[in-house]
Amino acid sequence: MPTPLVKLENINFYYNRGLPSEVHALKNINLEIERGGYAAFFGPSGCGKTTLTYLIGGIETENADEGHILINNRDLRGLSKKELAVYRQIGVGIIFQQFNLLPSLSVLDNVALPMAFLGITVERRRKEAMKLLDRFNMTKYAERFPSELSGGQQQRVSIARALANNPPLIIADEPLGNLDSENANKALEFLKELNEKDGRTIIMVTHESWSLRDAKTIFYLKDGEMIKKEESAKKEAVQKTLSEHLYHNLFPEVTPERLMARSLSYMLMRGFSGKEIKRFELFLSKRLSGEIDTPTFIDFLDSPFKDGGVGLWKQRANKIALTVEDLVEKRKEIEDLYKELEKDPETPLAEEVAKIRSWLLEDYRGVLSDIQIVRFDEAVEDRFRNIISPENFIQVLELSRSSFGVGLASGTVRTASERLEAMLTGKHYQVFH
Ligand code: ADP
Ligand code: MG
Repeated sequence: MPTPLVKLENINFYYNRGLPSEVHALKNINLEIERGGYAAFFGPSGCGKTTLTYLIGGIETENADEGHILINNRDLRGLSKKELAVYRQIGVGIIFQQFNLLPSLSVLDNVALPMAFLGITVERRRKEAMKLLDRFNMTKYAERFPSELSGGQQQRVSIARALANNPPLIIADEPLGNLDSENANKALEFLKELNEKDGRTIIMVTHESWSLRDAKTIFYLKDGEMIKKEESAKKEAVQKTLSEHLYHNLFPEVTPERLMARSLSYMLMRGFSGKEIKRFELFLSKRLSGEIDTPTFIDFLDSPFKDGGVGLWKQRANKIALTVEDLVEKRKEIEDLYKELEKDPETPLAEEVAKIRSWLLEDYRGVLSDIQIVRFDEAVEDRFRNIISPENFIQVLELSRSSFGVGLASGTVRTASERLEAMLTGKHYQVFH
């Protein structure tokens, strides 16, 4: 059984505890939401839906005095303030019922704002925000203010903003509440697309049963209690990540080795032509799957291109073959580590993570401070456990130290990220899906 992305255990939550106005808003809630799932919280007004999303979103974690709020097996209440802030910034995107757009900021700046907390430069922020707006056909409104938009348009901006830091989990609290039926349908389509095409885990809150149509799991709430859970039959068919979709729909024959060969080829053959890279990729995937051995691999690498080889100098061919052997070894270790994790998700990873760090930074000539090491290792572990996306990993490494990042130069970050992804390629798929 893979680790659920969200797991609540025996959650009780009170407003105004101990006062005459005390409200027992959540009563002994237990639930699990799988990675890649689409869950709905359904129930009448006042039943506790929003409170539940506040807990999962890390907004309200103090007053739940019992039980556990586990995100990817880490209890939110075990996190330091900083960790919780990072989770809120990159771990979860919330689409609020009232949209919560800042009236004094343009549409573009509203969408770019979450990235500011990560210390990303203004230019890059705006560029990324523009891409998001484009996805929702909103670029022509970029310079307008929220008050100049219709409800449906504000909704799209608020969805774009929730996606700004590329979180794996999206929470939408009554996202259809203020919309006419055409826009409500559009918003539902967006959520479905985010789930199916982007592999995001979705939590949608609603009190209208028609809007449950795309949910794979429906949790029924009443007076703070979870009274029923319903699984939709469609579940299996849609539980896919983006990479699965891409690779299994477009290239049905693709294996983790081919996937890895593709990403590695670009890294190892930087500066070579497309033709050469393609051919290298072919031999690399044969080597990775064990179809050919190292001497044969080297032969192919240094045979002339016109004879069907890659046409590398002998020395270069040897060096690349060594790097590949090295990676094959490391992947084996990572595979073992995943097996351990699968048996016991609590397995401490500190030692392995330190080892991975030294691989990733093999060519780095500087010296990391203690705090940089702590943050680097956290990012590796989070990436390893698939809490954060590759993009988030890069962001955290590039972020300045004062913004809780590692503060590495972008060249170093690119190399580290490419190496890590090469090691992980195909692995999350095998373990978690
Ligand atoms: P829903 O989103 O399903 O409408 P909520 O989670 O907003 O429900 O509210 C659950 C219960 O908690 C309701 O009885 C509501 O009145 C109460 N409640 C919500 N927010 C607060 C608050 N800040 N202070 C006191 N009671 C609250
Ligand atoms: Mg509500």
